[in-house]
Parts: sequence; C-alpha cells; structure tokens
Amino acid sequence: MEILQATFISSVADLAKCPPPDKPEFAFIGRSNVGKSSLINMLANRKQLAKTSNKPGKTQTINHFIINDIWYLVDLPGYGYASVSKSLKAGFGKIIDNYVLKRENLDCLFVLLDARLEPQKIDLSFLEWAGTAGVPIALIFTKSDKLSANELSKTMKRFKDVLTQYWEEVPPSFITSAETKRGQAEVLNFIDEVIRN
Ligand code: GDP
Repeated sequence: MEILQATFISSVADLAKCPPPDKPEFAFIGRSNVGKSSLINMLANRKQLAKTSNKPGKTQTINHFIINDIWYLVDLPGYGYASVSKSLKAGFGKIIDNYVLKRENLDCLFVLLDARLEPQKIDLSFLEWAGTAGVPIALIFTKSDKLSANELSKTMKRFKDVLTQYWEEVPPSFITSAETKRGQAEVLNFIDEVIRN
C-alpha cells in the first residue's frame, strides 16, 4: 500500500469526541522524542502531516487522519512524562487509557521504541499494561539508521526476551528509519493485510 491521500480530521482530548468508529484504525504511541512524528511523516511521504504537537507541557490530544479514504491513522499523545501514573493499575492517564482500552475500531496499536536504547522501564510497563488488556499491538524500532545491524539485533533480542515473560506470542515487530525510509513498505503492507483480513 502507498499513502496517496492523507487528510487531517480532528484533534481531540476525549475518546467521545473522536470520529465515529466506522473505519479500520491504526494508532501510534511511544515516549516523547521516540520519533513518532517523523515516522508518521515518513510513512505518508509528507513533511509535516504529524506536527510535533505532543510535546511535554503541550495539551495532549488524539489526532485523527484519514488515509486513502479507507483507514484512520491516529497520532496519540506521548507517554512517559506528566501523564504517567505511579501504579500500572491506574494506567497512563485518562486520554490514553480510554482510547487504548475502549476504541472499538482499533485494529493495531504501534508501540514505538528507540532502537538505540536498552528496554526502558516505561516502555515495558506500557507493553505489559496493554498486553494484559489484550490490546492488539505491533512494535516499531525507530531510528535504525543510527546503529549497526549487530547492535540492532541485540536491542530487539533484549526486548523479545523480556516480552516473552508476559506475552504468549511476541507481537509483530518492524525496524524503521525516518531518514532512510527503512520499514515504510513493511509497515504499510502490514496495515494493508490487517485491513483485508
Ligand atoms: P516525537 O516526539 O516522538 O514525535 O519525535 P520526533 O519525530 O519529533 O523526533 C525526535 C527527534 O529524533 C528529532 O530530532 C528527529 O529528527 C529525530 N529522529 C526521528 N526519527 C529519526 C530517525 O529515523 N533517524 C534519525 N537519525 N533521527 C530521527
């Protein structure tokens, strides 16, 4: 699949104000600075589809885009700063919790992980929380241009080792780079397949 058409629909701070759940939906989440805006722009071949609006201190919003008139792409607020609660039980803040747990047409939540870093506590907590809730997830390792193939496979293995502790099956994973466009076809083809099934 190629993204031929990408149109901004809405930016809201409440699940109830999201567009009607009438299309397949794919959402992107991660810690602030993980490379989410760059990835969304890379997938869509746009320079500024996703603005860097979800920065610490800014209002947290759920941003919907309609792609090729077929599916919704959603840019979620970053987790891991003010919105994070101390106990996993309490989740990741009302906006994220409600959206992730209750959005009925959510086909896949892409959780972005910085390929350069060791598994971060907050990322593992998020994955554990979402995994326990049965949310359909795929992992995206970002900024892969910054490290060697060997370093990359080490990071991925570390994550997979941890994830097998609380996931029966490790979620699908993708390696991307907004600089080289690595992973663009793989992520879009995955979305295409999910939509078709
Ligand atoms: P966000 O806060 O998750 O939306 O992150 P941004 O997309 O704004 O990216 C954060 C920083 O990482 C920026 O300085 C980007 O230029 C940089 N960055 C994002 N993706 C990549 C990538 O694939 N490769 C490299 N080398 N840098 C990246």
